Amino acid sequence: MLAHRASEYIIPADSKRPTYANQCKSLTAYRKTSPALQKVQSQVLQQTLRRLEQAFVSMWEQNHGFPRFKKVGTMRSFVFPQMSAGSIENSRIKLPVIGWVKFRQSREIPSDAKVGQVRIVRRVSGWYAMITLQWNVEVPSITPHGEPIGIDVGISHFAAVSNGKLFPNPRPFKKLERKLKLLQRSVSRKVFGSNNRKKAQFKVSKLHERIANVRAYYHWLLSHNLCDWAGMIFVEDLNLKGLARGFLGKHCLDAGWGEFFQVLEQCCRKRGVFFLKVNSKKTSQICPNCLTETGKKDLSERVHSCHHCGYTTDRDVAAAQVVLIRGLAAVGHTGLACFLRVKRLRSP
Ligand SMILES: [Zn+2]
Repeated sequence: MLAHRASEYIIPADSKRPTYANQCKSLTAYRKTSPALQKVQSQVLQQTLRRLEQAFVSMWEQNHGFPRFKKVGTMRSFVFPQMSAGSIENSRIKLPVIGWVKFRQSREIPSDAKVGQVRIVRRVSGWYAMITLQWNVEVPSITPHGEPIGIDVGISHFAAVSNGKLFPNPRPFKKLERKLKLLQRSVSRKVFGSNNRKKAQFKVSKLHERIANVRAYYHWLLSHNLCDWAGMIFVEDLNLKGLARGFLGKHCLDAGWGEFFQVLEQCCRKRGVFFLKVNSKKTSQICPNCLTETGKKDLSERVHSCHHCGYTTDRDVAAAQVVLIRGLAAVGHTGLACFLRVKRLRSP
């Protein structure tokens, strides 16, 4: 017998590895005896096994933990991997087995698009359908052009741009976070398992969703703002997992930089702006004017002041300028990078 990490799940050592294929077989057999499973379309159940297989594979190959047993209610979404033709019309969708369901269609579906999979997601505010479409589009390859900017994300500002612009941390977050703390405290005061606790917990979940929405809105707003006046945008290729683990952990998850970069990249593609991630090493330790290493700065040190050439600017702006220079070098505009440096020397 083989017990894994002192968990309660015991699999005989000589049994076959639980793969998607052999679990599907067992599912078919089990489904015949289970009325509850018969109510759900078999493809939907199989998709769950796919997820389970992924969890097993990451245990075998990446030494992740044993897949956790899911209680009723822990899975927040399910997938219909195949949809029949004509299953979406006039703000209603025909889900296999379930039938026609009315929904608020947020955008038009192109007439030549083929509906791929549909994922039904449960959020606090209701049920959502995430529809994957497939149709022929020309994706133009975007070449570096126009005004180049570098962006540095930080804690004291949300983002700093190489031209000196600073975007502050969005203010509504502070207010919402305070509210969240109050609500969370009210949950902890209620009796465990009581109805009042459930009600309070619901309020917390609702606020979480609202914060996520506000954040996404801000990310899109900022991305469009940047795309308005830039032809190429360079950002740092941050090791977000490493950062989140480090001492900046909480801050960097709060700010959602990874999410912001994803939104920014998507926005750039839509607007025809060139987007590139560059090496993020030591961006805050190099002088963008003379490229000398100035040594590590303390987090409280807000100003970059080069002891070599005397160039002085905001610390985050300096880092953004280093990102810009690296980006321009990466796309082969080294001449332009030098030109920028000369320009800055003349007009400090
Ligand atoms: Zn310098």
